[in-house]
Amino acid sequence: MDNLYSASKIKEIINNNGFNFKKKFGQNFLIDKNILDKIINATEADGDSVVLEIGPGIGTLAVELAKRGATVYAIEIDSTLIPILEKNFELYPNIKLIHGDALKVDYKEILAPYIGEKKIKVAANLPYYITTPLIFKILETDLPWESITLMMQLEVAQRICAKPGGKDYGSLTVAVNYYGKPTLITKVPSQAFFPSPKVDSAVLNIKLNTEKIFVKDQQLFFKIIKTAFNQRRKTLLNNLLNLGKLNKEELNNLLKSINIDGSRRAESLTIEEFALLTNAIYNILGNFE
Ligand code: SAM
Repeated sequence: MDNLYSASKIKEIINNNGFNFKKKFGQNFLIDKNILDKIINATEADGDSVVLEIGPGIGTLAVELAKRGATVYAIEIDSTLIPILEKNFELYPNIKLIHGDALKVDYKEILAPYIGEKKIKVAANLPYYITTPLIFKILETDLPWESITLMMQLEVAQRICAKPGGKDYGSLTVAVNYYGKPTLITKVPSQAFFPSPKVDSAVLNIKLNTEKIFVKDQQLFFKIIKTAFNQRRKTLLNNLLNLGKLNKEELNNLLKSINIDGSRRAESLTIEEFALLTNAIYNILGNFE
């Protein structure tokens, strides 16, 4: 099998198959071997791994993962890529191709048989138009994920890795860091893709926490984070009033009891403080959904 990551190879495949790039599917194919290697190395794929790949394109990542011995489940939405992928995967019985929408496919159904058998991972050069919902779908699927390696827009990767106190720090940062530890592996210039996107990209690796920070109710935790960051320029106290359950005085007393100043902004709170806040609210209200 030829390597699939050169621009000339992609052009050849496209010309031979009458394929048209579809902007609506975020189709920017990787053509930089160095970046490809960085993704594969960050994934640490081996014979003991099963890797879910979202959006295989012409199969560039899947084939490299399979060459390392990993079992790969590749989910592709574009029906015109399916015959191309079937051909490119011919030599790799360890790649299973799924034609479908990665937002709808049941990851648990596919991967549950591997629990306790293989290390369960994700590797993807994501379609950027659905980056955030896909990240949440993966994180919220109850599977023992070991690591998630994703190419995404640089700006989103920076938001996920942000530290408290800055403009990049927000609900996405807190939510992802609750599940795992993100590391920015490398920035990726737009020339690493064909066709080139308008934005710069980055590869992010998330190692999932084996022990999450303790929150009494996960749903409430996410609701509080979302509410706290709702209007970034407002104080924490004023945003939390929008929970609609406690008045100003009650909220002030609650915040005082856990040593958090209500005049702070959500962006200054650490994940531990959000957990403290969740547990204090839960003690009074339970899960008030
Ligand atoms: N992995 C390839 C690569 O690195 O060259 C292609 C990456 S390209 C940025 C995104 C891929 O995701 C495209 O193949 C596109 O058709 C596919 N895609 C877009 N939306 C999808 C969805 N909802 N479910 C599954 N695949 C999707």
